[in-house]
Amino acid sequence: MKKNIITILERFKSHNPNPQIELYFTNHFTLLVAIILSARMTDKGVNKVTTILFNKIHTPQDILDMGIDGLSYQLKTIGLYKTKAKHIMELSRILVQNYGGQTPLNYAELIHLPGVGNKSANVFLNVTCNADTMPVDTHVFRVSHRLNLSNGKTPDAVAKDLRKIIPKKYFPMAPHWFVLHGRYICKSRKPLCDKCFLTDLCPYYQKTILPQMKEKQSF
Ligand code: SF4
Repeated sequence: MKKNIITILERFKSHNPNPQIELYFTNHFTLLVAIILSARMTDKGVNKVTTILFNKIHTPQDILDMGIDGLSYQLKTIGLYKTKAKHIMELSRILVQNYGGQTPLNYAELIHLPGVGNKSANVFLNVTCNADTMPVDTHVFRVSHRLNLSNGKTPDAVAKDLRKIIPKKYFPMAPHWFVLHGRYICKSRKPLCDKCFLTDLCPYYQKTILPQMKEKQSF
């Protein structure tokens, strides 16, 4: 199936030429905050909070001025909000003290900030700089397996496989295409294959879904 990668990517492109992250943000700093908040949360759940929060805060200094109690209160509907609030406070302090309030745009510095892991840093750089990163979340992982683009057992292994087969010019869009496809079409429990434009290229559909459909029809 790896030989079909260009066809797959071009299909995504024809359906959504300009895919965007669905997290709400207003600048680089609020994007990083939104990405930290999105760990184990839906974008929808995060956006409910950040559409209000980002009216009040725009900079790391705004977070410091708000204080940990104020921030925790704002985040109370977010999973693990106490830990995330602590990380965002500490991150804001570091950005003010060491970066003049700016958010760094390189992996080496981002990865050392509290609450920022490998995936978060890659998502951030992919959105802000069109960097040739390949962040792999649960949706990218699942879609890659179903399309037989990777058999990797971990997100890092899948990212490595994808980076080998996806031409660089698609890197800024590919993670968004895979995330959106996994979120709305190739869902975890019941993929909406009848709405999918990749059935002819999908081994999972051919080997698993199609036989199930035929079996149902024969009853
Ligand atoms: S055909 Fe079905 S399983 Fe394959 S990518 Fe599309 S939605 Fe997912």
